[in-house]
Amino acid sequence: ELVIQNVWKEYGDQIVLENVSLTVASRAFVALVGPSGCGKSTFLRMLLGQEKPTRGTILIDGQPMPTEPGPDRGIVFQRYSVFPHLTVLGNVLLGKEFSKSRHKAKLFGAARRNAVEEARDLITEVGLSGTEQKYPVQLSGGMQQRLALAQALIMKPKVLLLDEPFGALDPGIRAEIHTLMKRLWHETQMTIVMVTHDMREAFTLASRIVAFERRRDRPEEKQRYGATITNDIAIWPPRQAGV
Ligand code: ATP
Ligand code: MG
Repeated sequence: ELVIQNVWKEYGDQIVLENVSLTVASRAFVALVGPSGCGKSTFLRMLLGQEKPTRGTILIDGQPMPTEPGPDRGIVFQRYSVFPHLTVLGNVLLGKEFSKSRHKAKLFGAARRNAVEEARDLITEVGLSGTEQKYPVQLSGGMQQRLALAQALIMKPKVLLLDEPFGALDPGIRAEIHTLMKRLWHETQMTIVMVTHDMREAFTLASRIVAFERRRDRPEEKQRYGATITNDIAIWPPRQAGV
């Protein structure tokens, strides 16, 4: 469970998020929507532990959010989150090395053999078998995002954060990845928070849609106000992982 309580985020005198409170149940799939620049990515970076709230608290399973990103939280960005100089297999193994320690820990011997096997299984799972020795530049955009997913999933995160991961993909490719996402969510115990601009994607995948919007009550001072949650919709009938 993620509990976000009265969180504010300010950069200098710019208020980005204003008094945001949200509880995300374990195994929920939350789609986060809102206008450009309203602070969605900033909010995800706070859930990752990369940024600290100016005020307020974030708890993950009752514990204060660690101040650094950890293996319990994985993230996939819109693009370019994989390393171009590593192969597909190398990129997934890198995720494993990060999951062993906050700093990258090289794997040797049996640990490495096990990790390679685990990485190959996951590469197959996301539909990339046969590409193990290819480099990201040799993959299509959709395949690169599948790779980024495998890289995050090998950490076995409790919480998976997705920042418009499929926004740059063609509609057909996006639909294929949606099928994969549904399966992954059903098969794992993950809580997912996904930022998207695509309402259809939100309705297709999420169990709950949360909208951020800037307050409009004093437009002349609009820039002094941050965004807050203006809508919080549960998808009906209830969609649950594993059901
Ligand atoms: P988009 O939909 O375009 O991705 P967003 O909702 O993800 O937008 P953010 O990227 O979170 O929005 O940015 C929210 C606001 O915070 C913007 O005005 C941005 O300029 C500001 N901002 C974000 N990061 C920083 C930073 N490190 N320093 C200063 N300002 C920042
Ligand atoms: Mg963003």
